[in-house]
Amino acid sequence: MSDPILAAVMRAPRQPIELREYPRPDLPPGSALLRTALSEVCGTDVHLWHGRLSGVPYPIIPGHVSAGTVAAQRGSIVGIDGSDIREGDRVVFFDVHRTCGRCRACTVHRTPTRCASRRVYGITDSATEGLFGGWAQAIFLEPGVAVARLPDAVSLDDYIGGGCGLLTSVHMIERAEIRLGDSVVVQGTGAVGLSAIALAKLAGASRVIAIGAPQSRLALAADMGADTALDVTRTTLDERRQAVLDATYGEGADIVLEAAGAAAAVPEGLDLARVGGRYVIAGHYTDAGPAAINVHQQINRKHLEIRGCWGSEPRHFLRTLTILATRPDIPFRRIGARRYGLGELNAALADAEALRIPKALVDPWA
Ligand SMILES: [Zn+2]
Ligand SMILES: [Zn+2]
Repeated sequence: MSDPILAAVMRAPRQPIELREYPRPDLPPGSALLRTALSEVCGTDVHLWHGRLSGVPYPIIPGHVSAGTVAAQRGSIVGIDGSDIREGDRVVFFDVHRTCGRCRACTVHRTPTRCASRRVYGITDSATEGLFGGWAQAIFLEPGVAVARLPDAVSLDDYIGGGCGLLTSVHMIERAEIRLGDSVVVQGTGAVGLSAIALAKLAGASRVIAIGAPQSRLALAADMGADTALDVTRTTLDERRQAVLDATYGEGADIVLEAAGAAAAVPEGLDLARVGGRYVIAGHYTDAGPAAINVHQQINRKHLEIRGCWGSEPRHFLRTLTILATRPDIPFRRIGARRYGLGELNAALADAEALRIPKALVDPWA
């Protein structure tokens, strides 16, 4: 581990990413220093760069899902997978920390992803506090962070290729309660949508119809398990609706999963679900503005169930590791298309925003 440690810092919205040097931090008992192997640029980072999330304590070191090896630790650390964490281990960690476990969201409503004390590496931790993001050569894992050994069977590329989109998808599929044989529409072919396609099949879907763009992502959607992939830029609403009806006995989909993040996706998703179907919305992580819907026609008369899905919990993180370890045939690694060094992250953000690649990976040693 070099000293000083290089980190890429987002100073403020729309300001160029700049490199800063950090000293090697002192480790309090129960903490560790991770030598970063890979991190990612996800859609949230593009939103962060545009200042679309509230309450972000800029400057920040982005990168909330990352993997590395333990360079140093102080005292014993037991992973949430039950493993005894040692120096040199390949380790991953759940980016959400300081969830309090005592507030009404945590205890009464059982919605810990809405805990007000909750903090997230790379998003709600300031760069003034230290190495709390993955766009850096090292990450400080404070005491209490949920760490786990990366199973030997899981490649770094598959873990980061899935990344935070895979974690979100595991939660979304849980919320969807897919039943054996269900038909599923996935709106959006970004990192969340692509993972959701594969997980819907794992959960028992008989048929998955993906709606997205551009063509390169639709090809990957097919490789992730989509039976049909519709280009949202080259088809009309009516054509997509007809394609879904044709594939679902004229009824519409049992389950519709929203991972597009566009306001226009919501009225369309409501129309694509069958009577009595279920619609799970996970793509509106930032405010995409209002959507016009006809409540009588699209919700009430359809007896439709609508569920939101926010963030993820440690169980989704652990299930992600199990899925990756047991299903190496699913090409999560292909979502992570290209590696960028710490000095190339302005280009990485631009490429991510322009949808030139499904996901940019961050290699702090490139
Ligand atoms: Zn709480
Ligand atoms: Zn993310």
